[in-house]
Amino acid sequence: MIESISKKLGIEAWRIKSAIERGIIQIYDKPFKHMIFRRGISRIEEGTVVNLENGDIIRGYPKIRRVLFLKQVIRKHFKERIAVEEKMNGYNIRIYLYDGKLYAITRGGFICPYTTYMIRDMKNITRFLSDFNNFILCCEAIGMNNPYIAKEYPEERSFGIFVFDIREKFTNNPIEVEKKYKLLNEYNIRSVRLFGIYKKEEAYENILKIVNELDKEGREGIVLKDPDMKVEPVKYTTTAANIETIRKGFEFPFDFAQGYMNRIIAEAFKCFELNFNEEKIREIAKRIGESILIPFVNSIKKVYNKGFLSEKFELKNLEEDIASELIEFLRKQGIPIMVKKDENKYIIEKIYNTSYNKIRNILKEGFYD
Ligand code: ATP
Ligand code: MG
Repeated sequence: MIESISKKLGIEAWRIKSAIERGIIQIYDKPFKHMIFRRGISRIEEGTVVNLENGDIIRGYPKIRRVLFLKQVIRKHFKERIAVEEKMNGYNIRIYLYDGKLYAITRGGFICPYTTYMIRDMKNITRFLSDFNNFILCCEAIGMNNPYIAKEYPEERSFGIFVFDIREKFTNNPIEVEKKYKLLNEYNIRSVRLFGIYKKEEAYENILKIVNELDKEGREGIVLKDPDMKVEPVKYTTTAANIETIRKGFEFPFDFAQGYMNRIIAEAFKCFELNFNEEKIREIAKRIGESILIPFVNSIKKVYNKGFLSEKFELKNLEEDIASELIEFLRKQGIPIMVKKDENKYIIEKIYNTSYNKIRNILKEGFYD
């Protein structure tokens, strides 16, 4: 099998073997025998999964670059037209049909038992993937009812799947935007919203309007795509989303130390690009400052009062065996969790030890290190 996979992927067999030895490629037996690329190897993305039973290769979902100066990205990055899709804030799932069953693969390449269970009866998706068995569906799983990103959406409070790309399994080539929406509509599969496809010259004003609306509604932002998908998509997020990300992150400041600077850079360039007046800049500055300091101080208080730092997720109406599969799955990935069962729901609490230990140490010793 390794030989044929090596040929298909264009990676020498010895490199695959050595990656397996170093744990960069992991092999699992369940729910079917497969291989996961925990890191990218040459042009094969992190999160790529190889089904070792039938040779299917499900490529990892590519990184999406963040727009910092919109005007210039529109001008230089895109061709004639730009499709504006909503960027929903949940977690990335690739849906793969194998042997009549749907599997949900996370960004990292893990087959998530919880998400797989939640999508098991999505008949339209099954129908679509059996009609087009060289495709996978790239989706955002959103809502309150999951162990990854809990965010309420009016269109789906508990659990929903919204497709944003249809990609060819082995090549990872996405199909064109209009064709994608046509197919998804035909099959009655939910997709992220398409706000419009604009000529380059008309895009800027329209995009600003759309983002402004999304910002007011506290939604995450947009992904800009070349309608032909020949240019890499880019993401542009709202001030509301950037601030919310910072706020959430600073509850666990030493676990998520990196990753905020780019949000701040984005806000700085937004202030400049949109020529905000001093009052407006002050307002955003105040919100950013608060989103850093308030959760941080609260976390210090928690640690001081002997509480640990954790994030709670509630999973309702979950069958017991799926719950234990999920718990084992999360623990195997090295995520420390505590689990409680409360009537009809499981409460999964992820523990952030790095932030806890660091804060506790500072409280004890008085120094950073
Ligand atoms: P990345 O490496 O792609 O930047 P990230 O985990 O930091 O990954 P995000 O900042 O959330 O991710 O932005 C990319 C993600 O946005 C995608 O992986 C996908 O899950 C999600 N997404 C939501 N809506 C869309 C959409 N319309 N098109 C593409 N991706 C979308
Ligand atoms: Mg996201």
